[in-house]
Order: sequence, then C-alpha cells, then structure tokens
Amino acid sequence: MLEIVVASGKGGVGKSTVAATLAIHLSRRRRLIAVDADADAPNLHLVLGVTDWSREEAFGEAMVAEILEEKCTRCGRCMEECPYGAIDLVDGKYVVSSVLCEGCLTCTLVCPVKGAIRRYGRVAGYIREASTRYGFPLISARMEPGRPNTGKIVSEEKERARRAAEENTLILVDSAAGIGCQVVSSLAGSHLAVLVAEPTPASFSDLKRVYTLTRHFMQPAVLVINKYDINEDFLPVIEDFAKENGVEIVGKIPYDDAVPLSIASMKPVIEAYPDSPASKALLAAAARVESIVSDWRAWFMKHRPREPRPYKPEIIRPEKFRG
Ligand code: SF4
Ligand code: SF4
Repeated sequence: MLEIVVASGKGGVGKSTVAATLAIHLSRRRRLIAVDADADAPNLHLVLGVTDWSREEAFGEAMVAEILEEKCTRCGRCMEECPYGAIDLVDGKYVVSSVLCEGCLTCTLVCPVKGAIRRYGRVAGYIREASTRYGFPLISARMEPGRPNTGKIVSEEKERARRAAEENTLILVDSAAGIGCQVVSSLAGSHLAVLVAEPTPASFSDLKRVYTLTRHFMQPAVLVINKYDINEDFLPVIEDFAKENGVEIVGKIPYDDAVPLSIASMKPVIEAYPDSPASKALLAAAARVESIVSDWRAWFMKHRPREPRPYKPEIIRPEKFRG
C-alpha cells in the first residue's frame, strides 16, 4: 500500500485538477482510494462530479462555553480574560460566540460564580464517503465553521482509507493549501509528495515552505509545474530550485481555458476536453507518476532524501529565562 499526497502550499494553483487526473489515471491500473484532505474547503468531489454521499457521519465533539444568564453577576472577568475574544456584551448580557469559542476553559477558571459558565459539546465536522463514477471511492470531510481539530479529522480520513485498503491499494490524498495542521496530517506517514506550483513568486514562496515539510518527514517529492507558460521569465527559478534539491519535474502543464471550463461543468478536464493541451500534459505527468509507483522500491532507494532537514522552530522564552 502506498500513499501519495498532492500538495502545493499556495491555494488555487491547480492542485485538485492534478489530484483528480492522478486519481482517474492511477485507478485504471490499480485499486485506489481518494481522500480529500481539505476539510475546511473540500472540492475534490466537485472536480470528480460527486453529488451524493453514500455515508456521512458526525466527527468529534468540540467543547464550547455558555454563560448562564440567571447565575451571571455581570462582573465582566470572563470577557477580559478570554484569549480568543469570544465573549461579548450584548444588551447588558455576557454572551459567548459559539464560532469563536475554542473551549479553553479560561472563562470558567476566572469566573467568581460557581456554575455560571458551563461547557457543551458541538459537532466539529463530518466525514463522508462516496463512490465516484470512475469506480474508486472518495473519502471527504467538511468542518463546521470555526471548529478546531482539522488535522485530527484529516488523520481520521486517512485512517479510514488505510483500514479499507488492501495490499497494492494506492491512497491518493488531495491536501489542503498552506503548511498548517491539515497539511502536516496529510503528509505524515505518506510515501511520496506530488508538489504543484505555478511560475509565480507567490507560488514559489509557498512551494519552498511545503517542500520544507516534506524534508522534515524525509519524504521524496516530485513536482508538477502548472501554467508553466504564463511567466516564462520566472520558470527557470522554479526549475533551478527543483534541480538543486533533486526534485524531479514530472510534468509541465500549459495554460489552457479548457481547465476552468471543465471545473465549471464539474468534470475533470481529461474527460471534458481530452484533446486539449492541458489534458495531454496532465496525463503525461500522471503516466510518469504511475511509472514511479510501479517501480517504487528502486525509485525510492534512488530518490529518498539522505539527510533530514528538521524544522527548527524559533523559541521565544519568557523574559525571566532570558540571558
Ligand atoms: S472557553 Fe475559552 S474561548 Fe471559550 S469563551 Fe471561555 S475563555 Fe473564551
Ligand atoms: S466571569 Fe462569570 S459572573 Fe462574571 S460576567 Fe463572566 S460569567 Fe458572569
């Protein structure tokens, strides 16, 4: 069983288009389970034309505070101390915003009136499953607005995929943008990162950040350059970065109006416009990934990162411990 993660750092650079192409192409050759790991803004199901879910389950319980009006003496301590600014004074009453509250308990600790604040559980999100019309299952999630634990829900999605997997199953994870907890959960335990970038300074900056994460996890990475022809002056910057870091460029996709048109019609571009230049380049990239997967052991031994590049966080010490 192999896990491939499609990640980009920056959003909107074509990650889900690449993920959908890889999923369809690879599923023609082996059993595949797709995972949409962007629980805040899932959209792989839209690219794959999924409209109905065969199963949807509530996931997790996030704790939220509630002030009991009849017990509250209106002292205001809770509002002063809430680290998330989740308490407001509305019409003379202290009220907790269930969207902003992180359930940290601070208000309960500072409140001088016993029992004036209680906590209750709220569903954090939902995990759902569907069969795609391409014959492989899709596991997706959606978080409720403002709920924490998005990394946890991604870990649970991947766990479900692993439990359903058989030997030789490929798990393809479409990661969220950024380098936050969802992306960390997507990359953790996976075998190969397919990074997607455009030749723009913003995309390149985020590519370097997500690449740092793959190195932290000692994962090999390959690169797809999307819309490679929109900024040919900047293209060599990304190509040089890939060369310096031993990251193989498995595909260069040209800008093509067929891609946004296919997204608007909820069809993968390789199905909606199979003869378009973008479709041909996407399928060539998918074929290269397929050949890497088919010869995984040999490819991995040749391309695995030799040295970890652990992320060294900057530690801010309290004043009293300094110097
Ligand atoms: S539990 Fe924490 S975040 Fe929620 S209202 Fe109380 S202090 Fe604010
Ligand atoms: S700290 Fe307690 S008593 Fe004071 S305003 Fe908040 S809930 Fe009311």
